[in-house]
Amino acid sequence: MNEILDYLVNFQPNDWFGISLRGIFIYLFVLWIAIVIWVARDSVGRSRNLIFQVFMIFLTIILNIFGLLIYLIVRPQKTLIEKYHEDLEYRALVENEELCPKCEKPLPLVFQFCPHCGEEARKACKKCHKLVSKSWSVCPYCGNKKSTQKKVEHKKNKL
Ligand SMILES: [Zn+2]
Ligand SMILES: [Zn+2]
Repeated sequence: MNEILDYLVNFQPNDWFGISLRGIFIYLFVLWIAIVIWVARDSVGRSRNLIFQVFMIFLTIILNIFGLLIYLIVRPQKTLIEKYHEDLEYRALVENEELCPKCEKPLPLVFQFCPHCGEEARKACKKCHKLVSKSWSVCPYCGNKKSTQKKVEHKKNKL
């Protein structure tokens, strides 16, 4: 090992083998650092768990490319930003809801059937085809009277 280090430090100007060997070492060193930085940045973007981040960075410093492979397998699928947007979408969906007339569980306005008890809570408006709650007497989207609404099944049969 010392001989190799001596060789690397005391290379001759015309020793192209020594120069290219140094170049390869420098390249591998830069690659090593780059992989560690990439894992560090990616883990911070995907997890708030400090232990997970430190462990994965530590693993990558030691195993490098193999640490990177392990990290790619175990890392959270979604980034924190993706999760945040998903939460927003879900909340927007759930907040626009009323209760199922049968089991009284929350029922988002976009649902026709209750996912808990299967009750058909809403029917499509005959005029605008938007889902309208059974308890409403007038379609809130187009003003159509409930008596003229028809079942969605009829519409499905036609298609
Ligand atoms: Zn229900
Ligand atoms: Zn309507």
